[in-house]
Amino acid sequence: MNTQAQIIIVGAGMAGMTAALSLAKAGLTPLLVERQPLSEQIEPTFDGRASAIAYSCFRQWQTLGVGEALEGYACRMDEIVVTDAHLPGAATRAPSPFFLHFNAAEISDRSGNEPLGYMLENRHIRAVLYEAVVKAGIRVICPASVTQIEETANHIRLSLSIGEVISAPLAVAAEGRKSGLREHAGIKTIKRDYGQSAVVATVKMQYPHNHVAYEYFLSSGPFAILPLTDNRACLVWSESHAKAKALLEVRPELFQAHLMQRFGDFLGEVELAGPKFIYPLSMALAENMYRGRIALLGDAAHGIHPIAGQGLNLGLKDAAALAEVLVEAARLGEDLGSEIVLERYARWRRFENVSTSLIMDAFVHLFSNNNPLIRPLRDIGMGIVNNIGPARRFFMEDAGGATGDLPKLLRGEAV
Ligand SMILES: Cc1cc2nc3c(=O)[nH]c(=O)nc-3n(C[C@H](O)[C@H](O)[C@H](O)COP(=O)(O)OP(=O)(O)OC[C@H]3O[C@@H](n4cnc5c(N)ncnc54)[C@H](O)[C@@H]3O)c2cc1C
Repeated sequence: MNTQAQIIIVGAGMAGMTAALSLAKAGLTPLLVERQPLSEQIEPTFDGRASAIAYSCFRQWQTLGVGEALEGYACRMDEIVVTDAHLPGAATRAPSPFFLHFNAAEISDRSGNEPLGYMLENRHIRAVLYEAVVKAGIRVICPASVTQIEETANHIRLSLSIGEVISAPLAVAAEGRKSGLREHAGIKTIKRDYGQSAVVATVKMQYPHNHVAYEYFLSSGPFAILPLTDNRACLVWSESHAKAKALLEVRPELFQAHLMQRFGDFLGEVELAGPKFIYPLSMALAENMYRGRIALLGDAAHGIHPIAGQGLNLGLKDAAALAEVLVEAARLGEDLGSEIVLERYARWRRFENVSTSLIMDAFVHLFSNNNPLIRPLRDIGMGIVNNIGPARRFFMEDAGGATGDLPKLLRGEAV
């Protein structure tokens, strides 16, 4: 079977589905190809992560009509406390006097009382987006993967594992870090292996978290306690690969003992509320955002360390920018996969994607060590930012995704 499409998006992850919805809402007809059954992706055992979503990115989902469905799963993040602490016992030992405290109330005049961000479990995001994709009438070819790619002068043709051949002027690679389309296009990546893995788990606390997120920078990697609904929290515990694997496999009572030692008792008794997961941490930054008729989006363009919870947010901004560029191009009757159109998308997103990836990379190196020369400098830096109101407010607005040249969807406007 041969199918002609307007835009093919390979990868129905959170970034790919958001891009598809953004395009469909504006009257274009994207088609999604996904290799893993979506029913599996929303199982509690598939992805234990929760994502910190910047308030502007959440606004994008609200504009696309999925805000209401997501709100029930979203926990406001009103404050973020970042501490440079010693190992072990992030919370049991006295933290460094140099810390950062961000409070949404300080920018409420400009953000319209929005929190710094929302914490949402990935499985709920996936389920809500998938339901919206189906409701919008977007075709999802799943499970299927791309087996062959051919480019002609004005089309790209993808042969799928199920025997169907689909062609379109443009294919969007949204398949995550290990993107086959990116590889086919010959786009190289700048890679870093941080030698760390994150153990992720959901925990239930005895005392209220009061919508505060805590991040402790330890020499083994960041340790974060991120508030979720129902007084739970998502724990992101970074360690060397070997220690992380041991944490994953250790007996429940031993894990509980380690957890309490690391957590301290400031939130009372803390208990595991689900399975543990492990994610190796690395960076894969693509050197270009497109080549030929293939455009990169989300982690396919920039897989980064989750030290500041920015990876998916960057992907959502890509989706908003790509939709705006393509809708405009379609209105002007331009070829959607032409260099002139894709260069507009790349020019819009390149700077933020590259700079954020490199800043996160620098943060990992700056904070994941105990170097006696570096430590005082970073502590002083944190102390300075914490004591300068405009600097603090800038960081909050930047993390909220509210700075720079924002695509319409992030401003709450339809494309
Ligand atoms: C521990 C941890 C915590 C994180 N926390 C945050 C956070 O708080 N905030 C934040 O913004 N980001 C966070 N991130 C980053 C975030 O999870 C990623 O940036 C995000 O999941 C990337 O989404 P994506 O849709 O681009 O790619 P993926 O989630 O990788 O989705 C890719 C999709 O493509 C499909 N696919 C792959 N190959 C093919 C193929 N050949 N054919 C068809 N389909 C294919 C896959 O099955 C998948 O569905 C975190 C990451 C980690 C590791």
